[in-house]
Amino acid sequence: MKKTSGDIDWRHLDASHHLHPFTDNKALRLTGVRVIEKAEGVYLWDGDGNRYLDGFAGLWCVNVGYGRKELIEAAAAQMQQLPYYNLFFKTTTMPAIELAQAICELTPPGLNQVFFTGSGSEANDTVFRMVRRYWDLRGQKKKKVFIARKNAYHGSTVAGASLGGMRYMHEQGDLPIPGIEHIEQPYAFELAGDLSSEAFGRLAAGWLEQKILELGPEHVAAFIGEPIQGAGGVIIPPLNYWSEVEKICRKYDVLICADEVICGFGRLGHWFGCQHFGFTPDFMSIAKGLSSGYLPIGGVVVRDEVAELLVEQGGEFNHGFTYSGHPVCAAVALANLRILREERIVETVRKQSGPYLSRKLAELVDHPLVGEVRNIGLIGAIELVADKHTRKRCGKLGDTGSLCRDMALREGLILRATGDTMLLSPPLIISGAEIDELVAKTRLALDATAAQLGL
Ligand SMILES: *Cc1c(COP(=O)(O)O)cnc(C)c1O
Repeated sequence: MKKTSGDIDWRHLDASHHLHPFTDNKALRLTGVRVIEKAEGVYLWDGDGNRYLDGFAGLWCVNVGYGRKELIEAAAAQMQQLPYYNLFFKTTTMPAIELAQAICELTPPGLNQVFFTGSGSEANDTVFRMVRRYWDLRGQKKKKVFIARKNAYHGSTVAGASLGGMRYMHEQGDLPIPGIEHIEQPYAFELAGDLSSEAFGRLAAGWLEQKILELGPEHVAAFIGEPIQGAGGVIIPPLNYWSEVEKICRKYDVLICADEVICGFGRLGHWFGCQHFGFTPDFMSIAKGLSSGYLPIGGVVVRDEVAELLVEQGGEFNHGFTYSGHPVCAAVALANLRILREERIVETVRKQSGPYLSRKLAELVDHPLVGEVRNIGLIGAIELVADKHTRKRCGKLGDTGSLCRDMALREGLILRATGDTMLLSPPLIISGAEIDELVAKTRLALDATAAQLGL
């Protein structure tokens, strides 16, 4: 029987037994939770019958949109055939093999080996262990330190949260673990001042070189970063930043780990974020868009030279997950990649919907609250400020962002806020008319926010 919100007091039940992730559960129990009941295309419906345009693709993940029959059928068929088997003990399954091959057809040249995980956090934990194993095998046992960035997000496991640069996460549970250093992020809106984009790109990459020299290159194992930092506020680095970072890493024999969990599978209008920025990593962490979030699956793509050493000299790698390459998740991911390819969705993001979103967002720049808009493909941000010229924020950082997010909800639009930065990441199948709606509703939310602030 199909349950509807009318039959049961879902809010009360949720408050009775359910601890939510990244949530003040006490506050949530007081306000009551929103129950999402169904979805189609770019739209969601809650239990009260309200419709929302999902400007956030779930959590940056529903790339092909909701309700795709091909994914549902792939899951059902694989469930019938083989609902589960593991990849340990000299065994494999056909969906895992096919998915590894399909991923490697899309990756940049030289990245042709995949290790599967159940999530993005597990992917970064895997990178952490593989990198250290690699340097051990190379006989460089001191090369252990990871350099990451402030305000980065690499997941919520102990290694993921430690690699990440979120202070509010580090404060809980004595993180980061040892062997991880954080440098400043390439956040032009806050840090570039009067510098040109190129000069700021060189400056920000220079922070990495400084840190490597400070630690001694013989101690530095790897640099990890999201091509565009997502959760931190859609921080888009200058176009030359990553190629400068690549030069520095190659100069000091430091591995490059691209956390492609958000940028991978089309969000920037390329299959992977590194292709937009023109660099080749040694490791890519993937998840989210790999299955469009329909089922949990992630992985690590390893560069050939690195994989060869791990395979040829590594013996048994004592690492893996019960759900590594889960056959049903893999079958769904395969169907998802097929849709992305056959419907030329990545190309459409690069040539049409991404540039169109840029033009529409630019129309918001005249709004008194808007300090900057930026996007690449279908990931973007709107900076909210009290004063466009000084870029001064309004009152306590984060209050305006939360207010604007609530106002957007009232308009039937889901946006996310990091501090006073509004974040956009709609499903990649969003149409021109739906982008118009997204931006029109964003303007209404901005107006309502300004009115509430008395501006
Ligand atoms: C979401 C995210 C992760 C963590 O993925 P989970 O599947 O939630 O563990 C890691 N890195 C980036 C860049 C992310 O956005």
